[in-house]
Amino acid sequence: MDLNLLKDFLKQQNLPDFRYRQITKNYFSGRYLNFDQMTDLSKDLRTSLSEKFSLLSVSEEKIIGDEFTQKALLKLADGQKIESVFMDYEDWLTVCVSSQVGCPLNCKFCATGKMGFVRNLTVDEIVDQILYWNQKLFPKFIGRVVFMGMGEPFLNWDNLISALKIINSPDGLNIGARKISISTAGLADKIIDFADLNTQINLAISLHSADQKFRESIMPIAKQFDLNQLKKACLYYVNKTNRQLFFEYALTNQNTSQSDAQKLADFIKSHHLFFLNLIPLNPVVGGMDQASKDQQKIFMNYLSQLRIDYSVRRSFGQNFSAACGQLATDKL
Ligand code: SAH
Repeated sequence: MDLNLLKDFLKQQNLPDFRYRQITKNYFSGRYLNFDQMTDLSKDLRTSLSEKFSLLSVSEEKIIGDEFTQKALLKLADGQKIESVFMDYEDWLTVCVSSQVGCPLNCKFCATGKMGFVRNLTVDEIVDQILYWNQKLFPKFIGRVVFMGMGEPFLNWDNLISALKIINSPDGLNIGARKISISTAGLADKIIDFADLNTQINLAISLHSADQKFRESIMPIAKQFDLNQLKKACLYYVNKTNRQLFFEYALTNQNTSQSDAQKLADFIKSHHLFFLNLIPLNPVVGGMDQASKDQQKIFMNYLSQLRIDYSVRRSFGQNFSAACGQLATDKL
């Protein structure tokens, strides 16, 4: 729900400020599916709210999943569709949210880029993806949010920042900054702006190659922000925030040679707060080829010999295209 419109509406109706807090508290609780269920409001107010607003700006079109992962296809008010993924693992219920309809970056290995860019999501379309899952989970609720769904969050900067405030606020979804992660394809200017915000929100960079020419060939954005600029911005980030910075590296059959490992090690060794996350590539039609199990093992051995620590990301929802890089709305 657009909270600014709600505020304006209540003002027009000459309703006191506490009504706003009451309605938003109900909205953020995940307990209610519509205004009519909010019986702490007068019948008249519930009716006029129902006429004027929908509680969520996203509505479920389809949902599929298994015991750990569910993927929802969500419809927006203008008929556009996005995907949002729920993961139930470790201690926290996690949602992977989208920030754009489609994506303009067109990374070779990612399904979202293949559908092109349609538009940025609004603040409420970002926040409501979380509330959609909270409504389903009630009385349980989402404890961790990752911006690793469709789109490049840093290209939707203003709405991202406003959504983050609501997600983090005690009067909003009250999810701790350290439980929120943003992933970017490496927009160096925005990495610096993000560092300057001085939040505790986690940042991850989609690196995928530490070789400039090859990175350009799989991530066109690398032509605009080359590895030197990217590294400078990342160093600025860690020096400013003193927080770990995560580098994501999907293992394909084209970036797992010994010289790739050497280049990657040189990059990661630039700062002790740089941390490597390896991701087994999730297959995407028209994308890149996975590294074989042997290639993966050998590459990890190279890294160990070079004294690089890393973690390997577990992948969820691959069999119904809900894993990283597999989100595109024509698939569901
Ligand atoms: N645009 C942002 C966020 C969306 S992608 C970004 O580029 O980071 C979310 C994560 O999935 C990123 O780490 C991205 O590199 C990764 N990813 C994309 N396609 C993938 C694929 N086919 N297999 C595994 N990870 C992929």
